[in-house]
Amino acid sequence: SLTLGIVGLPNVGKSTLFNALTKNDVLAANYPFATIEPNVGVVGVPDERLGALAKIFDSQKIVPAAVSFVDIAGLVRGASTGQGRGNAFLANIREASAICQVIRAFSDPNVVHVDGKVSPADDMETINTELILADLQTLEKAIPRLEKEARMKKDRVAVLEAARAASSLLNEGTTLYAGASGAGIDVALLRELSLLTTKPFLYVFNVDEDELGNEAFLDELRALVAPAEAVFLDAKIESELIDLPEDEARELLESVGQNEPGLNQLIRVGFRTLGLQTYLTAGPKEARAWTIPIGATAPEAAGVIHSDFQRGFIKAEVVSFDDLVDAGSMQEARSRGRVRMEGKDYVMHDGDVVEFRFNV
Ligand code: GDP
Repeated sequence: SLTLGIVGLPNVGKSTLFNALTKNDVLAANYPFATIEPNVGVVGVPDERLGALAKIFDSQKIVPAAVSFVDIAGLVRGASTGQGRGNAFLANIREASAICQVIRAFSDPNVVHVDGKVSPADDMETINTELILADLQTLEKAIPRLEKEARMKKDRVAVLEAARAASSLLNEGTTLYAGASGAGIDVALLRELSLLTTKPFLYVFNVDEDELGNEAFLDELRALVAPAEAVFLDAKIESELIDLPEDEARELLESVGQNEPGLNQLIRVGFRTLGLQTYLTAGPKEARAWTIPIGATAPEAAGVIHSDFQRGFIKAEVVSFDDLVDAGSMQEARSRGRVRMEGKDYVMHDGDVVEFRFNV
């Protein structure tokens, strides 16, 4: 399954955040494997739509989509040359589907910064430099081989050229995720090289609670990481929220001007960064979100429930979540003509409420 690898310099709040994420786990009952590996957390994707569906269908339970986070420790300056746990660190990142970079923006003088000062821009550069150097090493090894191949086989020329272009972009200090499309590099050609910086990136800024509402400050940080997405939270507050009863948690959130935990945003943005979306099913048993890649067709979506559903797919009865809620019931949505019959070429939308028809 797809995972987000949490990386960052030491002492930026990674463990605090990871522990809060895993304690937040509303899925423990549904995903008993969630705690097998100490550094992997399977967490539920918060989705208010499921509660609304459960009301309409009088469902007994709610089953959210899930996403996995892996806490990847050991990033230090020089990791790309094997410093610290460098090689293990790089191997772990290679296995992750996307990179969730945690960056310190909180000021607490009691927490030592490895470089002696708090500078989000410098930290980001330190981390990205290690990833970029690792990719440059991979390319340096690959290019002579690709040159030989390109002389023998025409279809390898494009790969060689993409590798060379990637190498010059990385030499300018730009990750492939941020710069490849702008430089006209087709990263699909480079997939065979398992480069690190082609993975989708997401940045989490661990900020002081009184900066959470400081939009000018947050905008500066956003600009730093664009086009990647940024999430802002105070890891210390998040870890406090986890242990509070609901009403006290709400009070604490209000006191820092937030209407939901930063973890919820992180999970949702993480899910999106992985290129995933959900469709919904509901009945008396459960209201449930199912995970599909963005762009999945109706039969592919059916296959997530059961491979037989995909094989025997006939059609999908689809209503958008908003139309269903407006109508108040499936029956009313039908009589309003809001429920569509979709065939095998239908591309799913996030929040489609679906019932599949299939042959067994
Ligand atoms: P890691 O090395 O990146 O995993 O960092 P930790 O989660 O272990 O945090 C390092 C130290 O920073 C611990 O003492 C945390 O309590 C503290 N810390 C983490 N997040 C925050 C924060 O948002 N604000 C403040 N003031 N301290 C934090």
